[in-house]
Amino acid sequence: MNIIVLGPPGAGKGTQARILVEERRMAQLSTGDMLRDARRSGSAIGRTVAEVMDRGDLVTDGIVIDIIRERLENDGSPGGYIFDGFPRTLAQADALGELLDDLGFRLDAVVEMRVNDDALVRRISARSTCAGCGEVYNDHTRPIPEDGRCERCGGTDFRRRADDNDESLRTRLMAYYKQTSPLIGYYHAKGVLRPVNGLRDIDGVANEIRLALD
Ligand code: ADP
Ligand code: ADP
Ligand code: ZN
Repeated sequence: MNIIVLGPPGAGKGTQARILVEERRMAQLSTGDMLRDARRSGSAIGRTVAEVMDRGDLVTDGIVIDIIRERLENDGSPGGYIFDGFPRTLAQADALGELLDDLGFRLDAVVEMRVNDDALVRRISARSTCAGCGEVYNDHTRPIPEDGRCERCGGTDFRRRADDNDESLRTRLMAYYKQTSPLIGYYHAKGVLRPVNGLRDIDGVANEIRLALD
């Protein structure tokens, strides 16, 4: 099965994608994570995108499409893929459609996570991520265990993202509404859109996604 998780910044896409990876042996392709890896590695792409990402604007379509193409053509995943944070523009959506066609893969569902802006701001301002494995925590709703060790990898280094600040978040929200939200209509027209209530707690949302996919 191949699915997209679509939603504004902080909606819980990464959190739910990681649950699907565990449950269904799918591979998560997060363009945000891949771009952050590229930055850390100091590669040419990483240097090009750093400033754009910190500001909260979208990286050029060509760059993210190339990254996704590279992964799809080179790594197999028998359980299929979860596209997390990609596509974010209509051009990316068209490119993904072509890539999947070329590889003979089907897009089974687009899970649209519906969350209001107040909840997004609350979630993002309390987000931290394990530097070792990428597990996502939240000061209020998913705190780091009392012993200070990551539940998944035992790591002790937790980071806040440079773009999780008020100004960048405003830019990211505007980018979502202007450039990404048209994908809701696009996938609705293709008959694959599955809206879920992203305001429920993490397990509640995971249940809604199970119902939407099975
Ligand atoms: P969030 O978890 O807040 O939705 P991501 O980790 O998915 O954010 O993305 C962080 C940043 O990386 C975005 O603000 C954007 O600059 C860049 N980015 C990630 N995915 C894409 C994409 N598909 N197209 C363009 N830019 C992207
Ligand atoms: P996205 O990938 O869409 O940007 P994340 O999965 O990183 O979103 O989640 C954003 C923040 O909200 C994280 O701190 C995460 O722990 C928290 N979170 C995720 N899902 C929920 C939920 N259903 N209820 C409350 N907090 C959540
Ligand atoms: Zn970890």
